[in-house]
Amino acid sequence: MADFAALRARMVERQLRARGIEDERVLAAMGAVPREAFLPRRWRHRAYADSALPIGEEQTISQPWIVAAICQALELSGSERLLEVGTGSGYSACVLSLLAAEVVSIERHEPLAESAREVLGSLGVDNVELLVGDGSVGLPGRPGFDAIAVHAAAPTAPPGLVAQLADGGRMVVPLGSDDSVDVLTVLRRRGEAIESEALSPCRFVPLIGEGGY
Ligand code: SAH
Repeated sequence: MADFAALRARMVERQLRARGIEDERVLAAMGAVPREAFLPRRWRHRAYADSALPIGEEQTISQPWIVAAICQALELSGSERLLEVGTGSGYSACVLSLLAAEVVSIERHEPLAESAREVLGSLGVDNVELLVGDGSVGLPGRPGFDAIAVHAAAPTAPPGLVAQLADGGRMVVPLGSDDSVDVLTVLRRRGEAIESEALSPCRFVPLIGEGGY
C-alpha cells in the first residue's frame, strides 16, 4: 500500500512550492486533500503524479499544479462565496472547500457529479453544493459570487459568469486560442470595469455549453 501522505507532502514541495505556489493556505489545503480518493481505483497508484488523469466520461482530474495555480490566483481569504464550473472528480471542489466559506460547483456529466457527491460526503465536506447542468451560464438566479473558478477552456470569458461576479470579485478561466494552447486568465471586476491578466499557458478540456464551445 502506497504511503499516500508522504507522496502528497512531496508533491506539495516539488510540484507546487518549487514551481511558484507560495500562498500558504493553498499549500496547506493541497497537503490536506487526499487526491487518491477522487480517482478510479486503477489510477490511484498515480495519485501524486505531476499530471492530469482519466476520471471517466472522457474527462480528467486536473494536474495538482493547475488546481493550486487556480486557487492561488483567486486570492481567497476564507470568507468567499465561490462558484466552480466543472466539478469533475470533486477534487478541486474539496481543495476550494478549505479555502472559501461556501462552494457551489456545477458539472454537466451527472455520473461525475454523483461520484463527486459520494466522495465529498465520505470525507465529511459540508460546505460544497453540487449541481448538474450547464455551468457556462453560471447560476443567473443566484449572482454575486466573490470568486469563480472555471476548470474547462472557453473561447472567451463567458458573459453570464462575468455578470455574476460581485464587485471586487475574481474569476479564473482558461481561455482557448487558435494554436490549441489555452491561457489561464484572471479577471477582476471593479464596478462596471473588468480587468484581465494572463497567468500561464495550460491545456484544458473544452467548456461545453451556451457560454463555451
Ligand atoms: N476540477 C475537476 C476537473 C475538471 S475537468 C477535478 O478536480 O477533477 C473539467 C470538467 O468540466 C469536466 O468534468 C467536464 O465535464 C466539465 N464541464 C465542461 N463543460 C461544462 C459546463 N458547461 N458546465 C459544467 N461542467 C462542464
